Amino acid sequence: MLSYQFCHQVTTATITAQDLAFDRHHLWHPYTSLRNPLPTYPVVAAAGCELELADGRKLIDGMSSWWCAIHGYNVPELNAAAKVQLDHMSHVMFGGITHPPAVALARRLVEITPGALQRVFLADSGSVSVEVAMKMAIQYQYARGERGRNKFLTFRGGYHGDTTGPMSVCDPVNGMHVLFAGFLPTHHFVDRPPAGQHTPLDKSYLRSLDELFTKHAHESAAFICEPGVQGAGGMHFYNLSYLDHVRRLCDEHGLLLIYDEIATGFGRTGALFVSEIAATPDILTLGKALTGGYLTLAATLCTDHVAETIGNSDVPNLMHGPTFMGNPLACSVAVASINLLFSRDWRAQVENIGQLLDRYLAPAAALAMVTDVRVLGAIGVIETEQPVDQAVIQAFFVDEGVWIRPFGKLIYLMPPFVITDGQLRQLCAVVIEACSVPKNFSAA
Ligand SMILES: *Cc1c(COP(=O)(O)O)cnc(C)c1O
Repeated sequence: MLSYQFCHQVTTATITAQDLAFDRHHLWHPYTSLRNPLPTYPVVAAAGCELELADGRKLIDGMSSWWCAIHGYNVPELNAAAKVQLDHMSHVMFGGITHPPAVALARRLVEITPGALQRVFLADSGSVSVEVAMKMAIQYQYARGERGRNKFLTFRGGYHGDTTGPMSVCDPVNGMHVLFAGFLPTHHFVDRPPAGQHTPLDKSYLRSLDELFTKHAHESAAFICEPGVQGAGGMHFYNLSYLDHVRRLCDEHGLLLIYDEIATGFGRTGALFVSEIAATPDILTLGKALTGGYLTLAATLCTDHVAETIGNSDVPNLMHGPTFMGNPLACSVAVASINLLFSRDWRAQVENIGQLLDRYLAPAAALAMVTDVRVLGAIGVIETEQPVDQAVIQAFFVDEGVWIRPFGKLIYLMPPFVITDGQLRQLCAVVIEACSVPKNFSAA
């Protein structure tokens, strides 16, 4: 027992040069070259808003581990929820069984999302929750006798996950649809709405939406999009009023409206869910911050109407049921994360982060390599003229004591909601420094 604990501590607290070499040769990292992998930084612990490297250096976290860690790391309330649940059971199958954490989470999700969304499917990752949403829409149309409606309508520039269904509705260029031609189903795209959350509606753009529906609605099951903020597809903000128009078109043409709020959910944009301030969807996907970044879990919610329509057909069951559906450990932590969010004035936190991002990032607008600076909720984005050299800028950020991971022309911050003003000022100062001549980390 003792030696096991000793061993356990050693493997989690240290990493050797051999470990790093092994990682480089044997471990896939997200979207990372196999021929010439960029360096990975060994993190051995994380607490509050800091990641701790194996050499003891601490980095201020500007990423919330990709939208997830809204409460920061090593959060006492979430640790406690996980430990208590671990002593009851970490997992049990969901087929023919239910358990308190799943019921508690579903009840909470029904309470805090828009009233029309009443049915909850607990999936094991964001991508899977989007697969489920798409299958729900297809089964809904099947139930209505619309057997030919198997296409989806969506904006260009979207990101919905990496499995096949979601990938097929990701931006066709960023999503590498050419590479997967013949494998991916093909759907119908329209340009994304013009940039700017406050930009007045563009009539000719509205007409392009009308045309999309006129041409393709008859063969389509649903319109799917990220409401208000396209995340990984370009950190693009747009006017929510476009979604009123999309909602009307969906109703006129018999399509469902699916919102993917895997990134925007749980307060990130200033609203708890964009769905509560935009036209209401029929189906909603949530993930990422659902467990406060502790465990992989996602949810697909739908209206009674969608569920009842499927239920009244000759195939009354939704054809999906993953092994780890409703994982109790993840559900417990999710309930604790939601409770923790509501125990704090998260709206004030997000608003304060937005105001500070506005103030501290403003000077970037005057820099030669910067083409745009934009802030929405607790998201701050700097767009550069040329793509940045990821390896070089990453090393600079680590040297400066911050964890920020740019992609393409985007250097962006979405810190934990509990970040201090001082930490945020430091993150922004390093970003401005990185964009300043003579630093200029352009890849070009
Ligand atoms: C991250 C993300 C997904 C995919 O979630 P995974 O948990 O990575 O499968 C889907 N949609 C949006 C909007 C996302 O940001």
